[in-house]
Amino acid sequence: MLRWTVFLVAVGILFPAWEAEFELPRPARPATRAASPAVVFVGDAGPALPRARAALERVLATPIGVKARELLDAGVLGGPLVIELNDRGENFTAYRVPGRELGETILFDPGSRPLVHTERGRAEAAPETVLAHEIGHAVFKLTSEEAVIQAIENPIRDELGMPRRSRF
Ligand SMILES: [Zn+2]
Repeated sequence: MLRWTVFLVAVGILFPAWEAEFELPRPARPATRAASPAVVFVGDAGPALPRARAALERVLATPIGVKARELLDAGVLGGPLVIELNDRGENFTAYRVPGRELGETILFDPGSRPLVHTERGRAEAAPETVLAHEIGHAVFKLTSEEAVIQAIENPIRDELGMPRRSRF
């Protein structure tokens, strides 16, 4: 990303007319990245879709989200990250090999507000934190809940100004 920015700035300085004529592609801002084919939404969740997209954009705009994006763009999952929307309160990443190998599909209900233990007591989890948690499983392939919370969910909670989760 940084290299692209430097390159495009350099091209803009050296060939301003060329840039104007051909409209060089600009690096996508984090807010537009969720449209990338690296992430696919499935499931007919109606109004839940824009809510899910907005939550994903906020997560991917954090430093850990940028790392997740890089892994996805590098194709480490062997395909897109699939976010299967539902309105049944289901939020989890299924295993491909039970207990051992995590799959690439996140079940996500952006309207659910599961109660979790935080440093400020029990609190409803925002969709961003639910998604951050599942990305810890599905993209970073962490199987331990503790690892997901400490390495992925809490740093993203910090970035979004939400209380840290204290335990699973
Ligand atoms: Zn988990």
